[in-house]
Amino acid sequence: MTALLEVEDLRVSYGKIEAVKGISFTVNQGEVTTLIGTNGAGKTTTLRTLSGLLKPTGGKITFEGKPLSGVPAHKIVSLGLAHSPEGRHIFPRMTIEENLLLGAFLRRDPAGVQEDVERAYTLFPILGERRKQAAGTLSGGEQQMLAMGRALMCRPKLLMLDEPSMGLSPLMMQKIMATIVELKASGMTILLVEQNAQAALSLSDQGYVLEVGKVVLTGTGQDLLHNDEVRKAYLGED
Ligand code: ATP
Repeated sequence: MTALLEVEDLRVSYGKIEAVKGISFTVNQGEVTTLIGTNGAGKTTTLRTLSGLLKPTGGKITFEGKPLSGVPAHKIVSLGLAHSPEGRHIFPRMTIEENLLLGAFLRRDPAGVQEDVERAYTLFPILGERRKQAAGTLSGGEQQMLAMGRALMCRPKLLMLDEPSMGLSPLMMQKIMATIVELKASGMTILLVEQNAQAALSLSDQGYVLEVGKVVLTGTGQDLLHNDEVRKAYLGED
């Protein structure tokens, strides 16, 4: 197994408040790795730091064997780390296609970009059917598909998804989870942040449980699904 991303003793603060208190984890090539944890555990902060949007106060991030410290956000995208953020952040007045193209803003290969737009429409047919409509007319689940499609437009080596199931109906959530499985089958490496522990761990190779800025438990997705503490705290079982 080759590590694509290695995070060692990462620390991130907002002013005096330390939100991430020395976490370490590894994302292996071709695997789905999940961070689960309650509200405020530091999951989003971790992804934003990996994307270069926040500056760590300590620790080391290594991507493909090279340190990421001090690398600006746009450069991190061009190195192959794509981030589909919590809350989606799509541009509601722009069309679906324009939103997708924004994900390719660093690319200089129009033919390849067009190919990837078509690939996004194959992955999410609803986006293709409505390509010329304003993105704000999409349902929450469809907007999530657009956010994922946009992140894929930079041909990432690592796709980071922040709570893709948030606010979705069970059916839509299943569709999103099935897409994650499909992406993994196509060779994509995925770092997933989820509150829906059951769904996320079921499809994860490796999982890390975060509590108030620290990793408290780690194991394979299956190990964690069957772990008593995880079952009590995250799956609502006695
Ligand atoms: P959630 O599932 O609720 O999104 P999370 O695990 O992603 O939670 P974070 O959003 O990373 O958690 O937040 C970690 C901690 O940092 C929380 O205590 C939060 O209140 C705090 N925090 C997050 N963003 C800021 C900010 N911009 N300024 C100050 N504190 C922040």
